[in-house]
Amino acid sequence: MPDKRIAAATEENLYRIFTIPEEPDSTLSRIEQEVSQNLDGFLRDHIVAVEKPLSEIEKDFLDSAMPEEPQFVSDIADELLHKLVAQSVHTSSPSFIGHMTSALPYFLLPLSKLMVGLNQNLVKIETSKAFTPLERQVIGMLHRIAYGSTRENNDGYYEHYMHSANNSLGAFCSGGTVANISALWIARNTMLGPNGNFKGVAKEGLYRAMLHYGYDRVVVLVSERGHYSLSKSADILGIGRQDIVTVPTDDDNKIRIDLLAQTITELKQQNAGIMAIVGIAGTTETGSVDPLTAMADLAELHKIHFHVDAAWGGATLLSENQRPKLAGIERADSITIDAHKQMYVPMGAGMVLFKDPHSTDVIEHHAEYILRKGSKDLGSHTLEGSRPGMSMLVYACLKVMGRKGYQMLIDRSINTANYFAELIREDDDFELITAPELCLLTYRYVPKVVKDFMATCSTDEKIIINDLLNDLTRFIQKKQRESGKSFVSRTRLTPKMYGGQTITVFRTVLANPLTTHDILKDILQEQREIAKESWRSLPAILKKVVQQG
Ligand SMILES: *Cc1c(COP(=O)(O)O)cnc(C)c1O
Repeated sequence: MPDKRIAAATEENLYRIFTIPEEPDSTLSRIEQEVSQNLDGFLRDHIVAVEKPLSEIEKDFLDSAMPEEPQFVSDIADELLHKLVAQSVHTSSPSFIGHMTSALPYFLLPLSKLMVGLNQNLVKIETSKAFTPLERQVIGMLHRIAYGSTRENNDGYYEHYMHSANNSLGAFCSGGTVANISALWIARNTMLGPNGNFKGVAKEGLYRAMLHYGYDRVVVLVSERGHYSLSKSADILGIGRQDIVTVPTDDDNKIRIDLLAQTITELKQQNAGIMAIVGIAGTTETGSVDPLTAMADLAELHKIHFHVDAAWGGATLLSENQRPKLAGIERADSITIDAHKQMYVPMGAGMVLFKDPHSTDVIEHHAEYILRKGSKDLGSHTLEGSRPGMSMLVYACLKVMGRKGYQMLIDRSINTANYFAELIREDDDFELITAPELCLLTYRYVPKVVKDFMATCSTDEKIIINDLLNDLTRFIQKKQRESGKSFVSRTRLTPKMYGGQTITVFRTVLANPLTTHDILKDILQEQREIAKESWRSLPAILKKVVQQG
C-alpha cells in the first residue's frame, strides 16, 4: 500500500462509505471472514489473555477531540483490533465460568448481521412490519411456556390474544433491568390507578396518588438476594430505594415465608401500600429459587401484584425435568426473562410477560403521528422507544433448538454444576458454600490444615481466620483472572453456618455447553497452585495458623 494514502472528506468518498463494500483482501473483509468461519479461533487469536491494568488500557482512549479528518476503514478496523478487541473479555471461552453469558450458537452471527442490515425499528409497524408479529409470536411462545399449564384451550387463547391490538402478553426489551422496571411500573399504576375523581398516578403523579389513597409509604417486597435493578426501578418509579423492603432468607438463600407474611402485616399496619411482592427464580449470587407457590398464596391473599424475577433462571422452564423447581411461577402477574442469559442469545434481549393481557392498559401511551389508538404499534406499551429486531434472534434460537434442544442444554448445565459441586466436596482443600439448585454454585479455597485447625477454634478465632480466608479468596480470584486462562467471579455472602459473618466466595455459572469436566478440574488445580505459589504473600497469621495445625 502507498504510504501517502490520505482519506479526504469528499462527496465521492462519503458516497463510497454507504455503498461500496471493502476489497476482499482488506482488513475488514479478513475480519469478517475469520469471524464467520471460526469465531472462537478469531477471539483466541486476537484477545490478549494476560490482563493489562485498566489504567494502561485507558491510555489508548484519551483523545477528547473528535478527529477533523476522515480515516480509512481499514486503518480503523486495525486500530479496533489492537486497542479494543485485544483488550476485551473472551466471554464465550469454556473456561470463563464466572459470567451469566456463554458461547453463542454459530448461526446467530450471520443472522445478527442481517438484523443490523435490515435495521428495523420495533417501536411501530411503519418501521418494522413483519417484525412486529414475529415479536408478538416470540412473546406468545414464552408466555405459553410460562402460563400455558393454567389453561385448557391454549390454541384458542393465543389465537385471540397474541396479535390483538388491544392487549399484550408481554414486552420485549433490552434486558432484565428494563423488564423489571416495566413490571413494577404496571404494578404501581394498577395499585394507584384512577379512582373516583382521582385520575391515577400516571396522570397525577405519586404525591397526589399517595394523598388520595392515604398511604404514608409505597413499598416493594423482595428477599435480601434481590437484584440491584429493583432499587433502580424503585428510584425511577418515585418510591425510593429504601422502599424496596428486603426480607431475610433461610439457609438455602430462599425468602423466609414466615417473615414475608409478618412483614406484610406490619407494613399494612404502618399504612404502607405494597405495590408488589417479587419472587426470584434464580438469584444472581447463588442461583436459588424462592418458594414461588407460597409467595403466590400470600400475594393472592393480600391482593398484591406478584412479580417473578426469572431474568437468569427463567429458561429453566424449557426443561420438563427442571421446571418443577419453578413451580408457582405460573401464578405470577408478571415474569422477567432474559434471553441473553440462559437462552444463548446475544446481549440486548430481555422480556417481561404478563399473565393478564389487559394489564398494560395502565401504561399505554399514545401519540398522534405514531402509536395511534387501536394500532398494533408495540411502542404504545413499552418503556423503550426505538428498539432493534432482537426478537428475530430469539425466534431463530427457539426454532433451531426447539424445546427439546433447550431442555438438553438446561439439563446439561445443571448436571455440570452438580459434577463441579461434587468435585469441590470431595476435595480436602475446597469448601462448597452454596450447592447448585440450577447451574450456579459458590465455593472457596480452604486448605485442609486450615479446615482442621478451624474445627478446634473459638468463635472469635474463626472470625479472624475467615477474614484472612476472604483476603485469600479475593487474591486467588484476581490472580486467576489476570493470568487470563480461566475466570470465576466472586461475591460476598453471609452463610448461616458462619453465624452471619460475611464470607468472600468464588461464584461460577456452568451454562457454557463447551465447559468440560477436565476444564473444571484444571480451574481448581490452578486455584490451588495460585494459593501455593503465593504462599509468601499470604497473610502471616494464616501461615502461623497453618503451622500450628
Ligand atoms: C441479570 C439479572 C437482572 C438484570 O438483567 P439485565 O439484563 O442485566 O438488565 C435482573 N434480575 C436478575 C435475577 C438477574 O440475574
